[in-house]
Amino acid sequence: MYYRSKGIVLKAMDYRESDKIVTIFTEKEGKISAVAKGTKKPNSSLRACVQPFVFSSLYFSQGKSMDIITQGKLLDFFGNSREDLLRTLYCIYIMELLDKSLMDKVKMPELFHIALTVLQIIDQVGYNPLLIRFFEMRLLTNLGYKPFLLECVSCGKKQKNFSCFSPAEGGVICDECKSNISGSLPISGEVLSIMKLLITADPGILNKLKVTDSAQSRLEHILESYLEYHLERKFNLKNTIRKLKRLTQLN
Ligand SMILES: [Zn+2]
Repeated sequence: MYYRSKGIVLKAMDYRESDKIVTIFTEKEGKISAVAKGTKKPNSSLRACVQPFVFSSLYFSQGKSMDIITQGKLLDFFGNSREDLLRTLYCIYIMELLDKSLMDKVKMPELFHIALTVLQIIDQVGYNPLLIRFFEMRLLTNLGYKPFLLECVSCGKKQKNFSCFSPAEGGVICDECKSNISGSLPISGEVLSIMKLLITADPGILNKLKVTDSAQSRLEHILESYLEYHLERKFNLKNTIRKLKRLTQLN
């Protein structure tokens, strides 16, 4: 049985003498791992199509234990991102988030298109921290962790302004509930409205948004805590994030 899908390569590991095991987020099948034979040889035609964070069209043959990549065509290499260390690191961060949070063979076409769009914008327009927050928010939403932002996640009450967000509860907390819920984080009106926007917005508008530095860092902290709370058991993001923060500060 043969099949074909476009996909974003999340990672590639050496396997046997000249092969690689490649993990791909495919448009049609979700996340899959497959063997790319002979790709460690310099003249391999598949070599360019199976590197981390390329977008390729791949042909697969179903194997007994693992599928085999038989042919491929490189669709986007994201060359501008590869020439820039900060952009490269953020692309790797996106690959890591996808690799560690997606289940094998669960189809997620919407998230696939979001990931591809974000990689294309980083490559063509440049890095913008809001774009990374947008990706984190859409990843969480697609994994079933859409945060409650309109009413108190604990009692359902609506109020004009919320001042707390609970990563554990997954949403904003009203003034009455806040003393009963530990581990919640302060949230401002500005951060709350950006979070609401990130759930529905087209990523193309993010470059036009004016966001204060304090809201940017608060938003980053809230989403980081929320991601860690829900995905921590599967992976440890902290090192990557710390590395990125140091680099961002250098720039
Ligand atoms: Zn409440």
